[in-house]
Amino acid sequence: MRFDVAAYKLRTPQSVQEALAWMAAEPGALRPLAGGTDLMVLLAAGKLPGGQFVNLWPLRELRTIEVTSDSVTLGALTTYSDVQAHPVLQQEFPMLVEAARQTGGWAIQNRGTLGGNIGNASPAADSPPALLCYDAELELRSAQGSRWLPYHGFHTGYRQTLLRPDEIIARLRLPRRRGQRLHCYRKVGPRQAQAISKVCFAGCADLEDGRLVSVRIALGGVAPTVVRCPETEHILAAATSPAALDEAAARASLSRQMAPIDDIRSTARYRRRVAENLLGQFVAVLRLHPGWATP
Ligand SMILES: Cc1cc2nc3c(=O)[nH]c(=O)nc-3n(C[C@H](O)[C@H](O)[C@H](O)COP(=O)(O)OP(=O)(O)OC[C@H]3O[C@@H](n4cnc5c(N)ncnc54)[C@H](O)[C@@H]3O)c2cc1C
Repeated sequence: MRFDVAAYKLRTPQSVQEALAWMAAEPGALRPLAGGTDLMVLLAAGKLPGGQFVNLWPLRELRTIEVTSDSVTLGALTTYSDVQAHPVLQQEFPMLVEAARQTGGWAIQNRGTLGGNIGNASPAADSPPALLCYDAELELRSAQGSRWLPYHGFHTGYRQTLLRPDEIIARLRLPRRRGQRLHCYRKVGPRQAQAISKVCFAGCADLEDGRLVSVRIALGGVAPTVVRCPETEHILAAATSPAALDEAAARASLSRQMAPIDDIRSTARYRRRVAENLLGQFVAVLRLHPGWATP
């Protein structure tokens, strides 16, 4: 595909502050570029509108992982390789690590960023379901300051977000949980590697004294945005034993919480069926857990 290079201007700031000052001076005129793994595909396809881009990639202050007793905070430039290599993420946030492991191939994992995955706002992206289940929060930063907001609700419609034109995603915060947590992440695509999801499922459950205290389920690829499934979560979380879980699972359809479509990757019918099957796998993980309290 041919494109006119002169239509694109890439500006490289010395600091986040400088990048934000440029964006404040011309709101909406500068588009962030992080790893470029989504933007370059659009460019090559002739689908990237010309204009100015602000090159975030060299800004090391956006590529940090800070661990405190309460949370893990990841800079927006954290790559999939960074995620996979981090011991606390491996231990406590395995669904995010699994999403990173299943994203693209090594080149994409070395270059693609979490901030880019969120900013790109694809409903079929692989890290958002895990981030939703882990109650991630986002720091959006502009020249005026920063604001933290829950990731849940950030995507307001197909490819729509709460990000203002003068803001960047600066960091993501994951609250840590000390108690027992079960995790189940599944990506279903046309093949094992280098494939965009047809359906992506993340589910986790917190246990205390052998009882479920909360269940979280998020799906990608089945609606205009990634979605949480509160109705199903509520039904499953009320189960007090494996037998009760089986009974709850029989009532816990995802169907009202999805709005899948037919597109080039799959059909709505297939996506519905697969999502329900993945829910069944999650329920099996919960049911087979040996730590249920004896009645
Ligand atoms: C071969 C290939 C395979 C892929 N496989 C997968 C896959 O399996 N799963 C998957 O989910 N994705 C996949 N992707 C898509 C892509 O790699 C990811 O979405 C990646 O996380 C994008 O990050 P990036 O830093 O490269 O984003 P960029 O391309 O730099 O930016 C993407 C979008 O986000 C915006 N943006 C970037 N950073 C910020 C920020 N800090 N603040 C605000 N806006 C920002 C940009 O303006 C742009 O709109 C694949 C891409 C390719 C080319």
